[in-house]
Amino acid sequence: MTSLLQRGAAELDAADPLAGFRERFVGAASDLVYFDGNSLGRPVATTADRLTAFVQQDWGGRLIRGWDEQWMDLPTALGDDLGRVVLGATAGQTAVGDSTTVWLYKLMRAAVDHASRTDPARTEIVIDTDNFPTDRYVAEGIAAERGLSLRWIEVDTSAGVTADQLREAVTERTALVVLNHVSYRSAWLADAPELTRIAHDAGALVLWDLCHSAGVVPVALDAWDVDLAVGCTYKYLNGGPGSPAFGYVNTRLQGELTQPIQGWMGHADPFRMGPGYTPAAGIRRFISGTPPILGMVAMQQMLELVEEAGIEAIRAKSVALTSYAVDLADATLPEVTLASPRDAQRRGGHVTLHHDRMREVTARLWERDVIPDYRDPGGLRIGLSPLSTSYDEVERGMAAVAEALR
Ligand SMILES: *Cc1c(COP(=O)(O)O)cnc(C)c1O
Repeated sequence: MTSLLQRGAAELDAADPLAGFRERFVGAASDLVYFDGNSLGRPVATTADRLTAFVQQDWGGRLIRGWDEQWMDLPTALGDDLGRVVLGATAGQTAVGDSTTVWLYKLMRAAVDHASRTDPARTEIVIDTDNFPTDRYVAEGIAAERGLSLRWIEVDTSAGVTADQLREAVTERTALVVLNHVSYRSAWLADAPELTRIAHDAGALVLWDLCHSAGVVPVALDAWDVDLAVGCTYKYLNGGPGSPAFGYVNTRLQGELTQPIQGWMGHADPFRMGPGYTPAAGIRRFISGTPPILGMVAMQQMLELVEEAGIEAIRAKSVALTSYAVDLADATLPEVTLASPRDAQRRGGHVTLHHDRMREVTARLWERDVIPDYRDPGGLRIGLSPLSTSYDEVERGMAAVAEALR
């Protein structure tokens, strides 16, 4: 097979079956190189019109009637769509609302309380040292609040949690395992079905954070028998800054878990406004308060594109884009080391390159409209959102990195 480098960006773009999607994003026609779609996806071009129509007709025209007509059911309707298109989850297990951080709190608390009710000896949360900061902080807070302890898996920051490491960490004391499907730093793609099995074999529940995989790496929550999952929608799902997150609770657990923020929107009969909290049936009980609708409307535009392209085709392009970036780094940046898995099967949608000067390199690149981001220690993070990124953009961006380094 001819290497990606030999073929070159022009040929790769010409042969890319998803190339036509790029022009369906705002700003894609400019020369700016966007390497941060994994932090904030570009807006889909139809989003502006859709939001205008929403303000004029849905909000402006229907006013408060909009809640009864559409919005009350949107968190679970959109959750079902996410389940079908990107999560491998059948209907009734996913809801949208809150931030990922709040979902983490609600679902971790629900899980550890359930574990201690069924087996008081389960007093540990297993989590890794390179898990996303908010996941670690929430776990610390819950441990303090509930008198639990944290068992840390020490991971290589260029990789992530392996099956052997998890096998060593889980015991009959484990209540919950909290893992990132794709590491925000290294892009390590965890073997979710295998790690889920290992947690279950030890009698523990598992919560997957899908922020860096939802919309770019195929996920099969039902097939993997996952207990709980959360993820955000402003990264590869392009819902815009602060668009609401999603939470997944496997059907078999919904009746057994009690979430701690018992608000009126999760009540069995919210408009009765009666005394005392009775949780709704199903996934609705995990909703707390009035959900943000505008971000959901924007996200729907992207979800339609993802469904049209197909998640498998998106993953295939993602693997090719990150492989192309790695090949360019190998060929043109001898002073840089790869801080992501070399094996594309173990790598998510971004690539991290290490060099001591990457912080200042990133600042210089931003001045030139080349937008990656920087993560300590010395990591230049190149996020490649498959539907909005071209091979030409990767080539120009990597040339700018080489220039900025010298
Ligand atoms: C981006 C990200 C978050 C963000 O959480 P917010 O509550 O939206 O700020 C959480 N976890 C992971 C793994 C992330 O990549």
